[in-house]
Amino acid sequence: MQTLWEVFRSKGYSRREFLKSATLLMATMGLSPILLNQLVRAMETKPKPYVIWLEFQDCAGCTESFIRTTSILPTDVLLDYISLDYHETLMAPSGTKAELSKEEVIKTQKGRYILVVEGAITPKDGGVYCTVSGKANTELLREAAENAGLVIAVGSCASWGGVPGAYPNPTGAVSVSQYLGKKVVNVPGCPPIGDVMLAVITEFALMGRAPATDSMGRPVAFYGNTIHDKCYRRPFYNAGKFASSFDDEGAKKGYCLYKLGCKGPITRSPCSTVRWNGGLSFPIQSGHPCFGCTEPGFWDRSMYKALSVVEGGWSHTKTAVAVGLGALAGAGLAYLNKRNKGGK
Ligand code: SF4
Ligand code: SF4
Repeated sequence: MQTLWEVFRSKGYSRREFLKSATLLMATMGLSPILLNQLVRAMETKPKPYVIWLEFQDCAGCTESFIRTTSILPTDVLLDYISLDYHETLMAPSGTKAELSKEEVIKTQKGRYILVVEGAITPKDGGVYCTVSGKANTELLREAAENAGLVIAVGSCASWGGVPGAYPNPTGAVSVSQYLGKKVVNVPGCPPIGDVMLAVITEFALMGRAPATDSMGRPVAFYGNTIHDKCYRRPFYNAGKFASSFDDEGAKKGYCLYKLGCKGPITRSPCSTVRWNGGLSFPIQSGHPCFGCTEPGFWDRSMYKALSVVEGGWSHTKTAVAVGLGALAGAGLAYLNKRNKGGK
């Protein structure tokens, strides 16, 4: 199997471009710069990882996000390096050949392959609501998870049940960890940022370890803070300056989007730090409140209602109360962040 360095060379990239990717990878994984040499050595010597990527109750949006990861690895390198021995959307083989290739990896690469799961699991009625190659999703998941070196649930469907698990949850959708009855690495988001998925996969592939996670299985390097903790509109929030509609003067001046339903204060996500499209932007920067898509049950929450206001409009008093509550929530979340940073 090729190493990452060999993949770079085979695609015609220079040593300089390879080292630039190593530095970006190090920064995205939240590694200390003193580990750069170790990371480069691993990129030169470790064979590319075996990855089985299963899709169950999903929309393939997480896959779409993953293949648009261009800020760390060029797309042609990414698709060659993450060998994706089985991925229903991306793999070249199909039918029996594809199934055999997956079974081969499960049998021969025990403890070494990475299992990525996209989509919720549906055990209801024997798993009939999601079958692939005539097998229930539950059976496919158990088979692939048993020998995996690391199980990563990508997206809010796999991490929490997501869209399929939204009320009234007709198929009885559950998360990967709920179904397996054990902790897995959760990379929530609808979808998650591609660079974040790549960093979690490569940390195991190159450094031989799973990322440090919080009590809900989320990598602390990416989910240790709320959007609100790192939001560039935070000074407006602290000053009590809010947009009240999408086209008022406050919106034009870039004021805080709290009144428009922003869930940033209760949402742990790397959106406001890693951002999207190579660090270009994120929803709040585009003028839209955070939906809280990385949190459990976000589809069942009202997306455009302010957190502390259920009905009716805002008064000066209500704004002051909300800001006060926000500050209290911030203090509580800061405490939880600190506690969760303690590890698994
Ligand atoms: S988490 Fe969102 S993007 Fe990913 S599969 Fe589920 S619905 Fe699609
Ligand atoms: S409420 Fe939303 S827009 Fe306002 S500071 Fe917090 S995260 Fe940013």
